[in-house]
Amino acid sequence: MSNRSARILSIANQKGGVGKTTTAINLGTALAAAGRKVLLIDIDPQGNASTGLGIGRNMRRLSTSDILFDNNAIADIAQETMVPNLFIAPSSPDLSSADISLGESRGALTRMKTALVAVATDYDYILIDCPPSLNLLTLNALAASDALLVPLQCEFFALEGLSQLMTTLREVQSGLNPRLGLAGILLTMYDKRNNLSAQVAADARKTLGNIVFKTVIPRNVRLSEAPSHAIPALLYDHLSAGSRAYQTLATELLKRDGSSVAHPYREEV
Ligand code: ATP
Ligand code: MG
Repeated sequence: MSNRSARILSIANQKGGVGKTTTAINLGTALAAAGRKVLLIDIDPQGNASTGLGIGRNMRRLSTSDILFDNNAIADIAQETMVPNLFIAPSSPDLSSADISLGESRGALTRMKTALVAVATDYDYILIDCPPSLNLLTLNALAASDALLVPLQCEFFALEGLSQLMTTLREVQSGLNPRLGLAGILLTMYDKRNNLSAQVAADARKTLGNIVFKTVIPRNVRLSEAPSHAIPALLYDHLSAGSRAYQTLATELLKRDGSSVAHPYREEV
């Protein structure tokens, strides 16, 4: 256990299928492999991060909906995964009614934040895999986070959806969570044979500058195959271009966060 608080990142984009879950699983695995203790919180009712890490529906005694609706402690919900150092708070389909059920309760938007206070020093990184919507679940994640990490698929219209997300970021910063930062924008599913990918990437770098991660995630079949085996791509084929890109991303993120990579700072108790 470290004395420092975990860095809490929401992985969000209201656009569906842009690589949020793939990033949560594989960045989480790469950070864990670099010696960090990581908790992945799955707040998407689809539960893809939970399934992708081998936690099928029958293995989810408690889920993140028990944090949001019943004030259960994250410590009771987090489970080990097959990756050493990587833990998961699995989701459940009940989360899909969160907008309705949470909407009327007091402090509806700060449930996750309250729950995370108790485990903040147990982990180095907490990654929250958000649903493809700017709903109460995503707002709970943003209220609890230090920063937002945005996967951006290298395709037409990608930047348009981003402006809506940046508006939400500013709204959250001016009310719910003034300390929320932007961890970075991650270009995903980059296809080097497709001119459009290169054009979207160039536009993103020109418009957004160095908030765009240097690391680009290529379109890679291993990344899409791994979830059907319920393991991270880094375990499925650690030499694949996709796995290597997520390892490079972890290194870049650790550097951005001012953490040395070769000799990780860990104060053991
Ligand atoms: P949702 O909005 O539904 O939660 P998401 O943003 O979490 O989706 P993913 O589930 O990570 O997106 O990815 C969408 C699909 O694309 C999945 O089938 C995934 O396996 C595949 N995929 C993600 N990243 C890549 C990549 N770099 N190369 C190839 N396939 C990818
Ligand atoms: Mg997802």
